[in-house]
Amino acid sequence: MNKKAQDKCDILIIGAGPAGSSAALKAAQEGAKVILIEQKKEIGVPVQCAEYIPVQLTTAVGLRDDLLVQEIHFMRTYLPNGEVKETESIGYITDRDRFDQHLAEKAEEAGAVIRKDCKAEIPLNPPLLKGEIGRLKAWEGGLSDVEVIEGGKRYFIEAKIIIGADGPRSTVGRWIGVENKEFVSAKQYIMPLKFEMDYTEVYFRDYIKGGYGWVFPKGNKANVGVGIDISFGSEPSEALDRFADELFKSGKIEKKILNSTGGLIPVGGLVGTRKDNILLCGDAAGQCNPITGAGISNAVLCGSLAGEISAKAVIDDNLDILSEYDEAVEELVAHSINHAVEKRRYLQQHWGRDTLSEALKTCWIAFEGYYGENNKHGGSEIEWELQ
Ligand SMILES: Cc1cc2nc3c(=O)[nH]c(=O)nc-3n(C[C@H](O)[C@H](O)[C@H](O)COP(=O)(O)OP(=O)(O)OC[C@H]3O[C@@H](n4cnc5c(N)ncnc54)[C@H](O)[C@@H]3O)c2cc1C
Repeated sequence: MNKKAQDKCDILIIGAGPAGSSAALKAAQEGAKVILIEQKKEIGVPVQCAEYIPVQLTTAVGLRDDLLVQEIHFMRTYLPNGEVKETESIGYITDRDRFDQHLAEKAEEAGAVIRKDCKAEIPLNPPLLKGEIGRLKAWEGGLSDVEVIEGGKRYFIEAKIIIGADGPRSTVGRWIGVENKEFVSAKQYIMPLKFEMDYTEVYFRDYIKGGYGWVFPKGNKANVGVGIDISFGSEPSEALDRFADELFKSGKIEKKILNSTGGLIPVGGLVGTRKDNILLCGDAAGQCNPITGAGISNAVLCGSLAGEISAKAVIDDNLDILSEYDEAVEELVAHSINHAVEKRRYLQQHWGRDTLSEALKTCWIAFEGYYGENNKHGGSEIEWELQ
């Protein structure tokens, strides 16, 4: 097989979701030569998201007004025992496809080269990266070659640093032996709302095991979905139909499916940040919140850090600088994610039992019991939370 690289850059970023585009933006702004590849023909399509973003994120990424589709003021939580709790939750529902495209356009404007319909392949045999796959050697001033397929054409891209921002089932993660193992499987319909809402709704039901049902409004429609922990052995389609039926009977939605989508959410917590010159960010690194399933904010935050620190390492020609990324993730997001993992483990024991509602009072973000002493901000001022 011809291993000759046909393109080269300082930093190759794999996956143009919020993490990858944020990494590309920062790295290009810092002066690195960046290539961002995305396997889809159109970035952000199809949408696999309930599309809620907290207000802090909109400011952080300088989001255009036309992407703030629906204002959200609070969240209403429904417990299985009939209790309802309202909590402040300032944010927006966006159009996730246009949101992702917006981030990618900003990266491109900063100088990143974007290749769509371009997929990084899993190196099989022989290994396609220099060093040994799974046991990659240190930088040694060397480069890594990644084989990609762009519109059917195979070639190699040579890079000093690789950033894997390729989502929950990360190929790059597999290269370095870092994989998400626990997932919630989500399915969602877009359905007409009977009345407009400026709040989100979250429903805990025993038939939605290990997750929850949601109604996230968008004008006269809503994203209506469920996420189910796959370790319970059930799948989300049946639960979603039952949930939609419950909402229809309560007079909230019309029984009409305008569109449907779904996807996986990694809920096992942080799986790793880096091996030598290969970094992971966003869902690929398990950086979404295992209790809420929200991952856009941390993907943007950690992607930006990965991009900025990688550019610094390239410019200073010093791979050791990459350890700053590990430290930043530890400092900024590890506390809240580890906390959510603990809550998730505790909650796991209460599904199918009449203790579920009480357990949720210490395990769901709407309740003070979730945070405990000094936990409200997860130890970091700049951290963005779902609510
Ligand atoms: C149904 C659902 C609802 C959700 N709702 C919300 C919500 O309301 N709010 C929230 O904050 N979070 C939500 N999330 C979670 C959120 O979508 C993720 O946390 C977020 O998308 C993570 O961003 P990312 O950039 O890490 O990964 P992704 O957005 O998954 O992007 C990864 C990109 O990499 C590309 N890719 C993968 N493999 C390759 C390859 N080999 N070569 C090239 N490209 C590749 C993919 O095509 C994709 O575009 C939801 C998730 C699901 C499934």
